[in-house]
Amino acid sequence: MPPELRAAAAREESERRAATHTAEVARALALERAGTAPPEAAGPAEPEPQWVRNAPARLTRLGAARRILRSVAARRPANSATEVRLTRLCSQRCRQCAIPWGAVPAETISLEQFRRLAANLRQYGAAAGFISGGEPSLHPDLPAIFEEALRTFPLACTVNTNLDNREELIRERIGAGVRMGVNVQTSIDGLDDLGDDLRGGSGVSARVLRHMEMLSEIKAASGSPSVLYVNTVLNRRNLRQIPQILEAVKSRGWRSSIGSYHNLTRHTRRDNDLFLEDDAELRGVIADLLRRPELMTLPEMLRGLPTYLAGEMPRRCPYLDAPVLASRLLIRENGDVYLCKGKPIGNALRQDLAAIFAGPAYTERLREYADCPGCWNNCYTQKLLLVKPPSARVALENVRFSLGLGRYRRGTS
Ligand code: SF4
Ligand code: SF4
Repeated sequence: MPPELRAAAAREESERRAATHTAEVARALALERAGTAPPEAAGPAEPEPQWVRNAPARLTRLGAARRILRSVAARRPANSATEVRLTRLCSQRCRQCAIPWGAVPAETISLEQFRRLAANLRQYGAAAGFISGGEPSLHPDLPAIFEEALRTFPLACTVNTNLDNREELIRERIGAGVRMGVNVQTSIDGLDDLGDDLRGGSGVSARVLRHMEMLSEIKAASGSPSVLYVNTVLNRRNLRQIPQILEAVKSRGWRSSIGSYHNLTRHTRRDNDLFLEDDAELRGVIADLLRRPELMTLPEMLRGLPTYLAGEMPRRCPYLDAPVLASRLLIRENGDVYLCKGKPIGNALRQDLAAIFAGPAYTERLREYADCPGCWNNCYTQKLLLVKPPSARVALENVRFSLGLGRYRRGTS
């Protein structure tokens, strides 16, 4: 395509994104100001299923360990990592993400539905949880959701937020999580104009950095053990800015983790400008990242990226290679349960999780994954590298990494 046509198409796409963005966020914020959840959240009252009655009120670490052993014995996923998406409404329109572009009106899980989902997870067993969106700070009941999530995920509970909302909502809702000990993960993929272009907004990185400072103050004042960190997704546009981004994050007292742009699942958007290549620039960035011990990304994840991009990495799939310990679940705002690619394997608001894993859709998905060429992705590969390291050297590195993270949580590093 000639450059002028490409520029015109890019301008048109950007204007379209901005228009939809403005309308959706205005709607979300109007609901906020009215103090109500989106109307579709309420839904008709449903009879209380058995798993709600049977679920323990709180899952302790001992209880979680017992349930994991039960799943190991039954050779089914132990549910070590579960992401629960509260809404697809979002205050940003990132170039890499398809989440806010779904059907209108958007669904948002209600507090009652979240409690039911949490009961299902406690009954089955769960270890670490991620509360995500869309943007979770748009949810009016977020503090109550955190309380429930902390009763459900005894190992760690993390909120994934873009920190790009009104300051008082970040303070009230995400700040409440920090006071309770919820970890916070946010994202900065670019500073200033680049950040705005990648995130589909205006003044994004400055606002996010300001909100990070505010949360650091809340953490310090409350003595909270929350881990605060920024995930930066490497893409072809931001490689030159990576050192600057990492310094901006570090100077606010936050940690960093590193991901890489991909278009593997239905929740991501294809953008040909963002795909990475195995070239000298990427290798230089990786070499620099490996010299930064403060990063919360396994060194093997960083080292393996160029090899993966060059097509030389053997296929590794957590769902097939270590299904019991490395399977990650995504539960959407309507209760649908996803593994990675493909259709849902069930609905956690209507079926108990043990029945979902015993069902035909779970088996069918695994059969489909046998044809997947593989991935190299924080959400999936990193867990597999932890539970099934490819060498003794990587196993040792993983131990050092986990001990370092533990020291950070205890405030001794
Ligand atoms: S990546 Fe996150 S912040 Fe960006 S549009 Fe998607 S849900 Fe929103
Ligand atoms: S290798 Fe497995 S985890 Fe990775 S994209 Fe394929 S199915 Fe998903």
